[in-house]
Amino acid sequence: MPGRHSAVFFLENGQDSMKDKEMFPKIKGRVLFHEPLFKHTTFRIGGLCGIWAQPRNEEDLKKIVMFAKSKGKKIVIIGRGSNILPSDKGFDGIAIHIGAGCFDEARFVGSRLIAGAGVALNRLINLACKRGLKGLEGLAGIPGTVGGAIFMNSSYRGRISDCLEEVRAMDLNDGAVITIKRKNLKFGYRHSNLRGYIILSATLRLKRASPQALLKQRDRLLAIKTKKQPLGCFSAGCVFKNPDGGTSAAWYIEKSNLKGKRIGDAQISERHANFIVNLKNARQRDVMRLISFAKKRVKAKFGVDLVPEIVVI
Ligand SMILES: Cc1cc2nc3c(=O)[nH]c(=O)nc-3n(C[C@H](O)[C@H](O)[C@H](O)COP(=O)(O)OP(=O)(O)OC[C@H]3O[C@@H](n4cnc5c(N)ncnc54)[C@H](O)[C@@H]3O)c2cc1C
Repeated sequence: MPGRHSAVFFLENGQDSMKDKEMFPKIKGRVLFHEPLFKHTTFRIGGLCGIWAQPRNEEDLKKIVMFAKSKGKKIVIIGRGSNILPSDKGFDGIAIHIGAGCFDEARFVGSRLIAGAGVALNRLINLACKRGLKGLEGLAGIPGTVGGAIFMNSSYRGRISDCLEEVRAMDLNDGAVITIKRKNLKFGYRHSNLRGYIILSATLRLKRASPQALLKQRDRLLAIKTKKQPLGCFSAGCVFKNPDGGTSAAWYIEKSNLKGKRIGDAQISERHANFIVNLKNARQRDVMRLISFAKKRVKAKFGVDLVPEIVVI
């Protein structure tokens, strides 16, 4: 079974978790206690989290935010878990999964697409292409949600921020919902200024185009990804950001003879050197050691500092 994990935290905090169960607000969505995080990440890595909650509406989401605040509990937001590397020791807080109910709904208003933050990007791209609306097809094959893609400013052949008009978000401090216009949103490489917020939904402004041409372009990009990346393996996508200067992180890692390098069950992919794959039972510790090994090798050989893009929890 992938993702073995330690139960130490829960043995030590058994009393607290009993109280959590009794006091956690009643919501319509699923709430699980002591839920293994590896089940919810594409890396299949991560220990137990105290509370796993999947609200279906904003009212229930706010109840969870206010509960966390009153109990001094940390919150982590998880979409598809395709860019995160959770700790083997688990997470002593509340993991909120945005992906059900109203967060998984999308609708068109003319050439605008209003999408819940939990909608899978690939589903959204499919909807938009078939409707003859251009702007999202360049993100084909990214296995995340709308919220995760906006938070990370995901990109492949284009960025999600390119067609973003506004975002609705909940303030993690007080549960207030605000609308943030594009001019007030700041994006960088795998970065947005949305830390401290839960993205609820987004309005994307798309352009009219031929559905056939869009579907063709999407399929072309999917075929490139399938050929170049280890898509069938457990991973969190590219581990490092590409350094400034135009040479990819994958090139530096490959030229440092690191393809196939393995620590525990974590391995630098033979197919794409910027991917680390979980062969079966990799732990966060193995991945972190491999990251550090690759960083040192590349620094020694090329003098380049590689910076991870995956989110370590
Ligand atoms: C095989 C593979 C290929 C990939 N290819 C690409 C690629 O081409 N380009 C690319 O950019 N990425 C790529 N990725 C990485 C990843 O899929 C993207 O970053 C994706 O958009 C993350 O979305 P998610 O829903 O999985 O976010 P998660 O991994 O669940 O979360 C990522 C971060 O976003 C935050 N977050 C998630 N949802 C919300 C929300 N609603 N509100 C606030 N914060 C939120 C989380 O707290 C976390 O900090 C790839 C990953 C894999 C496994």
